[in-house]
Amino acid sequence: MSSRWAMRSFLIPVSLLLIVVSALGPHRSAEAQQPEPMRVIVHIVRAGETVDDISAQYQTPAATIMQANSLNRGDAVRTGQRILVPVAVGQLPYGTIEQTTLGLAQSLDELALVLGIPLLDLARHNGAVNPTAGVTGQAVDVPPRPQTTLGGDITAQAAPLWREAFRSNLSPYTLALDNALSDPFRTVPGQIVRVPGDQPARPLVREPWTGLTLSPPVLEQGRSTVLQATTNRPGTLTVTFLDTVWPSYSDGTTHTALIPLGRYTEPGIYPLTVVFTADDGTSSTFEQPVIVYDGRYAVERLFIPEDIAAVLSDEALVEQELAYVRGLMTTFSEEQYWEPGAYWLLPSPAVLTSAYGVTRDYNDGRLTQFHTGTDLGARAGTPIYAPVSGVVVATADLQVRGLSTILYHGRGVFTGYWHQQAILVEPNQSVTAGEQIGIMGNTGLSTAAHVHWELRILGVPVDPMQWVRQPFP
Ligand SMILES: [Zn+2]
Repeated sequence: MSSRWAMRSFLIPVSLLLIVVSALGPHRSAEAQQPEPMRVIVHIVRAGETVDDISAQYQTPAATIMQANSLNRGDAVRTGQRILVPVAVGQLPYGTIEQTTLGLAQSLDELALVLGIPLLDLARHNGAVNPTAGVTGQAVDVPPRPQTTLGGDITAQAAPLWREAFRSNLSPYTLALDNALSDPFRTVPGQIVRVPGDQPARPLVREPWTGLTLSPPVLEQGRSTVLQATTNRPGTLTVTFLDTVWPSYSDGTTHTALIPLGRYTEPGIYPLTVVFTADDGTSSTFEQPVIVYDGRYAVERLFIPEDIAAVLSDEALVEQELAYVRGLMTTFSEEQYWEPGAYWLLPSPAVLTSAYGVTRDYNDGRLTQFHTGTDLGARAGTPIYAPVSGVVVATADLQVRGLSTILYHGRGVFTGYWHQQAILVEPNQSVTAGEQIGIMGNTGLSTAAHVHWELRILGVPVDPMQWVRQPFP
């Protein structure tokens, strides 16, 4: 008797597990079709080099390189041009020991100082022409560290600095850079030269900046990124990226700006400009190129009933409803309702049935759309919760989206919940993380019970799952 009970309590969790695994199946297989993990190297074209030469050097198909750089067949590359080269992980050149990514306000020379690696070694390993010009998000190969345990100061003798440097197993160029010398071969006897070792790392940014970060430093189509800056005096920031000024929030000397990257932002290298205007009227500009990577979204082929396809093909109706929704999800205000640094909750105990960003091809190419949110599927009647605190902006019964709720979380961040069976909140009502706001259903243009969860920042739809996986300040 007791063994039978033991058997039953063992079987129940197993059968639940099987349901979850089989429901995950289609999503898993869609992911499996994607290419293996790639890293993107910034290659600077040398004189006479062609795409075929670069292809051979990195063992990356020429077509992949051309696609990553929006090049057409027959397009020539210029000497000095920065080319993005996707490289399969494990196939990186130079027998690399480690890789890292350049953060904001970092260049190869600064990274060399932080890592304690001679700049020349780092630059050589990365084929860099100008080691002071870093590109945020750039993958950097880190060569083995030299065996130095030196620290403190050395005094240049009658002998030039380069001889001291070699005696200490250091690069004379690194020493010159670290000491702000124009030429390592010309030092004055008696001059104090600092050598890397047990000294604190030199700050990466200069006055009035005391810190500048972009997280994640790797920007991708359809993903959110946050710029944080600290300054030595109070003031405000103006953040410009992709020809847009992004609203920022300043609390004295701490400044934050959220940047949503559109699903169709062209991959490439773009300047990021941050202007700090201090309360005393002085201003300082920081500028650095930043890479935007391809989001590598899949294509989904779907077959839907003709009556649904007919409504989806009605451009005027679809556009009108989209304009209504977008209009409600586009403003910015300084208050923030989500707890800084908290992971967001998944809005429903359900399975991800269709990811953000996939291109949806309906009924054999009759209609193509990009999926602006994440679909979470479960039985009709499953609760829908607020993933984080916010305020209800609107509730509506829409032709395409069905029973819909829009929440505002502050700082230009909105979420939407479509296709509900019932709405349990009212406009202007405050909600807290984990509070039930609705019931999952199949209303509007939907073929199975699910909630479409959409996240827009200043009107731009981005991947909501990133906010579940990564805390935002
Ligand atoms: Zn959806």
